[in-house]
Amino acid sequence: MMVSVAILTMSGATLWLTRAQSSEGLNLWGGGLLVYALALPVLTLRPMIPVNFSIIVGNSLFSLSIGLMLWGYYRFLERRPNLWLTLGPVFLTAICMWLFLDRLGMRVMLNGLIAGTQTLVLAAIMYRHRQLTPGHGYQLLLCGCLMSTLICYARFLAVFSGAVSSPTSDGAQLLQTVSFIGALSAAMLDAVGFIGMIKERADARNRTLAMFDELTGIANRRAIRDEFARRSSEARRHRRSLSVLMIDIDHFKEVNDTYGHPAGDRVLKTVAHLIGSRLRAQDALGRYGGEEFLVVLPNTPQEAGALLAEDLCQCIAATPIDLGDGISIHISASIGVAGVPLNDTKHSEDIIRASDDALYRAKKLGRNRVEEGIL
Ligand code: GH3
Ligand code: MG
Ligand code: MG
Repeated sequence: MMVSVAILTMSGATLWLTRAQSSEGLNLWGGGLLVYALALPVLTLRPMIPVNFSIIVGNSLFSLSIGLMLWGYYRFLERRPNLWLTLGPVFLTAICMWLFLDRLGMRVMLNGLIAGTQTLVLAAIMYRHRQLTPGHGYQLLLCGCLMSTLICYARFLAVFSGAVSSPTSDGAQLLQTVSFIGALSAAMLDAVGFIGMIKERADARNRTLAMFDELTGIANRRAIRDEFARRSSEARRHRRSLSVLMIDIDHFKEVNDTYGHPAGDRVLKTVAHLIGSRLRAQDALGRYGGEEFLVVLPNTPQEAGALLAEDLCQCIAATPIDLGDGISIHISASIGVAGVPLNDTKHSEDIIRASDDALYRAKKLGRNRVEEGIL
């Protein structure tokens, strides 16, 4: 009863959490714990409950609780559950219990075998999808599942080997005690692990949202500024050169006004892709503003940065952009370049400011061109 109340409390707490946030399978997992908590009194309060009902329903509920947890895990992965794997063992358990109603040893062995295999399958499925759930939550969950498998198979082996001959023997008492304590520990590991997995995935998604521009998929303003700060302090420490390009699409407002906002979005994505495809692995690209991009070029003196800028300028102007419905347009961009040479002690913000000034000059001088900044 103590184990049942403890698991019932965990299930209640788990289900309560799903009221405040999208459940991501946690409701099914909590439901699994609830069924588990119900199975225990059905199995143990036998004098008060008809024996046959206790055996068949109690053991089937136990199997169903593992099935629901597996279902919850599938839901977490946003995959369709395999119904054979989730509900098949429940029917198998019910049939086996009914067939061997008067053979306790056989029932314990079959239960151990079926439930142990269920938790082993759950562990194997989690292991197979481990790259989708990297983190400590997954590790706890896997530990919990393997612990349950161990307990179930130990019960099977204890009866199979003859180590537990009668239900009142010391060996049987010990087996029951170990099973209950182990089951409680495994359930705790599972619940904490599953909640941990949900939290770790949410954290990773939030980190991505905080770092990347949703439209173009490249770094957002904050991320590219952080990257620039990192690269410029590295350049200063190792006395290396560093250049930045400030790229702004020309007359972009006209694209929006003429072809609509979705067409403008398409242009932004294409330009981001064009720029990205011409950079080296060490370079960094980010969306600095609406139609403005910042490129950070480590180990690159200003002259080399200007050459790349010329190349990008020509490439952007020469590439037709497909807007769908048979419409294709040409656009251009203006670029401001600024860089610091070796041993320079300029403040990093000065480089950004110089590239911005150079971009302003490029716009004033007629657009679709590159201008170099003066530091
Ligand atoms: P210039 O050659 O002087 O740079 O002119 P411009 O039209 O490119 O510059 P301006 O600053 O006048 O207009 C920028 C436009 O970019 C205005 C804004 O509506 C548009 N814009 C900003 N962000 C987005 C976006 O995410 N999607 C779309 N479609 N348009 C955007
Ligand atoms: Mg513009
Ligand atoms: Mg602009």
